[in-house]
Amino acid sequence: MASLSEVYSTLLDYLLPERCPLCADPSMKGYCGDCRDTFAVVTDPCSACGLSRPVELCPRNDASWHIARVVAPLTYSQPAISQIHALKFASRRFLGRALGLILAETLRSGFEIDVDALIPVPLHAQRVRKRGYNQAIEIARPVADELRIPLRIAGIRRIVATKPLAELDADARQRSIAGAFSVTRNVYGLRLAIVDDVITTGATVNALAAQLLEAGAENVEAWAVARAL
Ligand SMILES: [Zn+2]
Ligand SMILES: [Zn+2]
Repeated sequence: MASLSEVYSTLLDYLLPERCPLCADPSMKGYCGDCRDTFAVVTDPCSACGLSRPVELCPRNDASWHIARVVAPLTYSQPAISQIHALKFASRRFLGRALGLILAETLRSGFEIDVDALIPVPLHAQRVRKRGYNQAIEIARPVADELRIPLRIAGIRRIVATKPLAELDADARQRSIAGAFSVTRNVYGLRLAIVDDVITTGATVNALAAQLLEAGAENVEAWAVARAL
């Protein structure tokens, strides 16, 4: 006969069908509640840039800033850093779902959403071949499912293989990324949200937003799991 603890654990597996990617305990969806609480959130974020207010140099009034709103719930600190690194550099593709669920939950619980389609930041074809997948798509997929917003991938490409931006300072990032994207699909009149893993200077999402607006998009937001402060 099964012991009480075995019955309990079977019942828990049935009620909580997933395993938390951090602690491996049963979880309802993605990270368990306890691990979820270990991720630091950005407090009182500025809607234009996603940084904690007061923001010293908000790009809000900068003519070259094309992002109408930034939603990026987590600070780029542990355990978010190691989870995002594992997703990007250690083939832990499944982490995209758990991280995307955090973003989806934040959006659903605290934001008005008026978006026609999600645009994951494309990787250069070379990088996709090397990595096997695009982490931004892995994050965007559960967001699209949860919020019932279509994902748009085809016709939006990264045509310049930029150096890893982490190696560059802010000015060099800006120069390196301008013109890195090409938009050949019809986005006319659409309200779009770009999805990425982490927003650092914002140069990447801003450059893609510029291309989408030039192609006729009506409005572009940027959604990411984390915001580097
Ligand atoms: Zn856990
Ligand atoms: Zn701001």
